[in-house]
Amino acid sequence: MSAVRIAIVGVGKIARDQHLPAIAGDQSYTLAAIASRHGRVDGVPNFHDLAALLAEGPALDAVSICTPPQGRHAIARAALEAGKHVMLEKPPGATVSEVADLAALAKAKGVTLFTTWHSREAAGVEHARAWLEGRAVTRASIVWKEDVRHWHPGQEWIFEAGGLGIFDPTINALSIVTKILPEALILDSAELHFPANRDAPIAAKMAMTYAGGAPVSADLDFLQTGPQTWDIVVETTAGTLVLGLGGARLEIDGQPIDVGENREYPGLYRRFAELVARRESDVDVRPFQLAADAFLLGKRIEAPPFEF
Ligand code: NAP
Repeated sequence: MSAVRIAIVGVGKIARDQHLPAIAGDQSYTLAAIASRHGRVDGVPNFHDLAALLAEGPALDAVSICTPPQGRHAIARAALEAGKHVMLEKPPGATVSEVADLAALAKAKGVTLFTTWHSREAAGVEHARAWLEGRAVTRASIVWKEDVRHWHPGQEWIFEAGGLGIFDPTINALSIVTKILPEALILDSAELHFPANRDAPIAAKMAMTYAGGAPVSADLDFLQTGPQTWDIVVETTAGTLVLGLGGARLEIDGQPIDVGENREYPGLYRRFAELVARRESDVDVRPFQLAADAFLLGKRIEAPPFEF
């Protein structure tokens, strides 16, 4: 099969850190162009936006959208309307309804839509899923605490409406949990801490129930300095599993398990190439739905103002 001619829309932190290297390292792809108002990439045609790229750019099979969630729907729609396969960074949009609309459009156009969840590709996650299969879960906890000033310096969109605030990174934890615990995970209550000067939460707590019985808690914070915490613990009647470092490290009953190298974005691009070859879509909104449920059900608590 000939290489997928792909364009990136929105050349910011994640496009530079992960997408461009993953595409460069995968023979299934040729980087055909980019569309970004300020970002530039040498060696390929650069366009201000997707409309200009589609109108004047080179032939293209697929588009990988790396802009913030607000505004992503219009970009993805334009790409699908033009018959391009579409890969979406997480979260897949600003609202759950947007994603349903995109899925229907991709189906109507006969092209691929892939709502990516990069943390599901972390090295320990598939091992964890396999180990948990057939075991009875009694309790689980997520602790996801990081320093927004370090990881998202100056990214004002995160604290604007639709930017998800603390759920921007912690939707990664929800993506892992909904993969390793495949039965129903229901939100019972939530607390959302909104800085007085911002429209998205900076910390949150969630209380959920798994498979009709096991409590699952989430403690989420964007103001953690010093050591960062991205841990998920799952207790079962036959042992305890700890996924650390965002899924890159796995321990079972206190014993470290060799899970190999962490290659999240190469894994996503491999999967996208397979989906494109089969003209199939992979659209899973469960992590996004849980975050949306927290906004629906969560009690709003005012927190001190936040500045980067
Ligand atoms: P970013 O550094 O702010 O880059 C996003 C790029 O999108 C910008 O450089 C900008 O490029 C373009 N853009 C288009 N409309 C925009 C708008 N209204 N406001 C701001 N930028 C806009 O953000 P990022 O960290 O790369 O995150 C992008 C997406 O990737 C988010 O959904 C995020 O959750 C996800 N993600 C981020 C990370 C991470 O560690 N940063 C990790 C995994 C996933 P132009 O101005 O050139 O158009």
